[in-house]
Amino acid sequence: MKRIVIAIDGYSACGKSSTAKRVAAKLNYAYIDTGAMYRAVTYYFLEHYVNLTNPKAVEDALKQILIEFHHNGKTEENETYLNGLNVERKIRTMSVSDKVSEVSALASVRNCMTELQRKMGKKKGVVMDGRDIGTAVFPDAELKIFMTADFDARAARRQKELLEKDQLVDLGRVKENLEKRDHIDTTRKENPLRKAADAFEIDTTHITLDEQVDMILNLAATKIIES
Ligand code: C5P
Repeated sequence: MKRIVIAIDGYSACGKSSTAKRVAAKLNYAYIDTGAMYRAVTYYFLEHYVNLTNPKAVEDALKQILIEFHHNGKTEENETYLNGLNVERKIRTMSVSDKVSEVSALASVRNCMTELQRKMGKKKGVVMDGRDIGTAVFPDAELKIFMTADFDARAARRQKELLEKDQLVDLGRVKENLEKRDHIDTTRKENPLRKAADAFEIDTTHITLDEQVDMILNLAATKIIES
């Protein structure tokens, strides 16, 4: 059967990664969380005090970074590794969330990540979620999804996710972070977050995870037959 690229873009906390993970598992495809890659870069930059306004320092730091995804035997899920170390929990903290959109707005960072993501998806059979997958990384992806949800629903979801990772964060602080990231992600010069003209939009405010997964699997089935 033909293997395709499924690009899932959208705002933070719309349920992209939970949906993408399940879709990938059902199709036996690889799942790539590109947000985790930008988060890993940000974590490295914070740890090494990289000055974002110094292009040479940023370029040099990028050369030191190796990002990989490895299977975690316990949960059967892919986890993010930075230079051989598991940073899955460290990249989900608020300090990384507070800085990630600024780091992701830098052209050199985006070029580096885009190149890596294209390599990871070149054999197809991949579900990739992010902000610019359907518009910039894989503009020819066979299936493109754009996910949205009401702001309050997104904030409540993100707060719950953080709590599940033992991080108790005030709802106001979660909202402030989402608002700031939405603003930077949609207004940056390099590949801002926007819906690709040929993407299917799914508003996840009032639908369940299973419904989101089924919708995408149905669309994927059509695309797999067509292509
Ligand atoms: O998906 P997640 O919320 O973990 O993404 C974290 C941040 O990484 C986003 O707010 C955005 O700034 C950046 N990002 C990006 N392009 C992508 C994926 C994520 O700029 N393809």
